[in-house]
Amino acid sequence: MKINYDRMMKQFIEMTKIDATSYEELPMQQYMEKELKKLGGKVYVDDAGKKFKTTAKGNVMARFPGTVKSKPFILGAHLDTVAPCKNVKASIKNGKVVTDGTTVLGADDRAGLAIILEVIRTLKESKEDYPPIEVACTLCEEGGMYGAKFFDASFLQGKEGIILDDQTPKELIVNAPKAYIFEIKITGKASHAGVSPEKGISALEVAAKAISMMKLGRIDKLTVANLGIIKGGTGTNIVMPELVLEGEARSRNLPALEKQVKHMKECFKKAEKLFTKKVDGKTIKPKIEFRQELKYPLLNISPKLPLIKYILSRAKAHKIDMETKSCGGGFDSNVLASKGLIMPIIGIGYYDNHTVKEWLDIKEFNKTADLTLDIVKNYRKQ
Ligand SMILES: [Zn+2]
Repeated sequence: MKINYDRMMKQFIEMTKIDATSYEELPMQQYMEKELKKLGGKVYVDDAGKKFKTTAKGNVMARFPGTVKSKPFILGAHLDTVAPCKNVKASIKNGKVVTDGTTVLGADDRAGLAIILEVIRTLKESKEDYPPIEVACTLCEEGGMYGAKFFDASFLQGKEGIILDDQTPKELIVNAPKAYIFEIKITGKASHAGVSPEKGISALEVAAKAISMMKLGRIDKLTVANLGIIKGGTGTNIVMPELVLEGEARSRNLPALEKQVKHMKECFKKAEKLFTKKVDGKTIKPKIEFRQELKYPLLNISPKLPLIKYILSRAKAHKIDMETKSCGGGFDSNVLASKGLIMPIIGIGYYDNHTVKEWLDIKEFNKTADLTLDIVKNYRKQ
């Protein structure tokens, strides 16, 4: 049983022509539905699309019965692509798939979707045994993992599998941080900057004071924090009345993450106090609203799990020096883990993703397909 590399490449190139950025995934949702049905899968589309703003109906799932008794093995990838992905002109050069430099390639994550389809096609064509397979294609991974957040896992009978996303198949990602995003609104008091600046409170100065006391950037080996957006001000002659800051903090150490958030809030509280003053006999003070939202939960899969040992052993059989790795960013896996699904991430050979220089390493793409075929085919769990 062998992967048909040419057929897989042809399908991948066909997929690059589909324009389906985050929040506009309907064409890709429909394409995967159609392809999975063609392969004989029982297809289910959940209603995640109703729960956030997208053109799509939902995440696409499928089940293929298999020829032996086992729990299903789940193959996952995401349906959305970052912009610009309109009129992608993919071509093959020196063992790479590249674009003409005006769009992304979209191998993140169509290369993953192409592998899933080719692996199932190969298994179905062969006369060899394989276990039940389930497919989970999510919406809006790039836009904040909203597909995964509203993923209806009740269709799936399996509890573990892999997500095909990320760069090299030499890495199996099992750890990724928990992340919060923040929006901090500072309300000062407007006043004429030329006539009566002492009667105002500059939201900018309050923010500057708070930030000057704040630890940001790399906090420790596992924790980082950043303020990335600042919006405020209406005129050079007005003491700035309002300012909004946006930022985030991530860590693989949960107590350290909570400590950092607390620290950031305290710095704003201190600044609030320092800018409290009396004007015309009245006490005025800035108001600080600190809004915090979970961006994604922690991913922490033990390397001792049988699934991880199994994947590493299959990689070894394919002469891939695969290692378990931690990543500084989040994946659908983080969110799906909170729904009871264990899905480490395997790289599929795309590089410089999220840029117009994105390219796919054909050797690694084929290798990941071979490995995925092996992982699925030999998986047994009662
Ligand atoms: Zn991706």
